[in-house]
Amino acid sequence: MSATPLTSQTLAVDGGTPVRETLLPYGRQSIDEDDIQAVVEVLRSAWLTTGPKVGEFEEAFAERVSAHYAVSFSSGTAALHGAAFAAGLKAGDEAITSPMTFAATANCVLYQGATPVLVDVCSDTLNIDPEQVCARITARTRAILPVDYSGHPADLDSIVEIAQRHGLVMIEDACHALGAEYRGRRVGSIADMTVFSFHPVKHITTGEGGMVATNNASYAEALRRFRNHGISSDARQRQAAGQWHYEMVLLGFNYRLTDIGCVLGLRQLGKLDGNLARRREIAAQYTAAFREISGVIPPIARRDVTHAWHLYPIRLLPGKLAAYRAHVFRALRAENIGVNVHYIPVHFHPYYRDRFGYKGGEFPVAEDAYSRMMSLPMFHDMTDRDVQDVIEALAKVLGHYSR
Ligand SMILES: *Cc1c(COP(=O)(O)O)cnc(C)c1O
Repeated sequence: MSATPLTSQTLAVDGGTPVRETLLPYGRQSIDEDDIQAVVEVLRSAWLTTGPKVGEFEEAFAERVSAHYAVSFSSGTAALHGAAFAAGLKAGDEAITSPMTFAATANCVLYQGATPVLVDVCSDTLNIDPEQVCARITARTRAILPVDYSGHPADLDSIVEIAQRHGLVMIEDACHALGAEYRGRRVGSIADMTVFSFHPVKHITTGEGGMVATNNASYAEALRRFRNHGISSDARQRQAAGQWHYEMVLLGFNYRLTDIGCVLGLRQLGKLDGNLARRREIAAQYTAAFREISGVIPPIARRDVTHAWHLYPIRLLPGKLAAYRAHVFRALRAENIGVNVHYIPVHFHPYYRDRFGYKGGEFPVAEDAYSRMMSLPMFHDMTDRDVQDVIEALAKVLGHYSR
């Protein structure tokens, strides 16, 4: 028997009734019957991969992000690898990126034998800090990879300017930021190459998949070869031309996205605007609720961006709470709110620690944010009831721990 009586405010983690009966995930795909039908039609067609849907999806995608070219890949990670290749990254080169990201952003630099150089982030957006970038440029620096963390574009004009001044290739990791805008321009039209992911938690999905958008024809050609073993034509082009001959001109990979994935991507792209609008509504509901709930810093959108709201990461205010993030996290999970943490900073991963000798303390803004952050559920199909459940659970848990 517990010493204190159970009430509706008793935390589920202490044996109380959870706010929800089932777990609300932090992110989830949205698939409708038309999506399913479109995939079934491709399954019945002659081309499961390297067929007509690939070009159709790429063209529609390029138009949506206002880029001249879009080249599809089997994942966002493969797309990052392709971009690092097309940028010419090689052993001895350095590429600057953010520690506040999924490890794949830095890994693509290592795939090319080059060295990722991490620099700290701005405390409001958790995007790479242009001043820190300038401080770490050396004669070996060849590329810069800003990440549009949570869907908030990085300080892109400053980074374009730095890249031009130093002759660097700018590869934007926009895996969170499909549909975002920066000073009235679409993400995908600004950097030398912009990389997107179609993993199921992202804005649109192809199962696994990714894309590189670029305005540069030679990058586009290098990307197409790289994803197809380094071969200079694809099977469908050869069939159309009645030719069997092909040439492998560089060492590439099989990073192709299937027609099954591309038709799904095409369908999903048509629903992107609705998806973005819903995410914006959810973000506004959360942000309004935080006027009443203390102990939390909600994420912000700077005035010159349109945020894509892939994530809604809050930061706890330790001075206002008698609990660590771990307690709040566990308590919210027990209430069936699927909070998550994005991200463990890249240099905290054992592989990076061991290989580059990071000890912690190198990037104080990213590290402080990491120690206090939590991503709330955020996806297109969340109902208003779901949003209310999250707010109710936060009020309950933070109320319990507030001092
Ligand atoms: C999702 C993601 C990736 C990797 O994309 P995959 O499609 O999962 O390979 C890379 N960078 C960031 C910031 C991401 O969120």
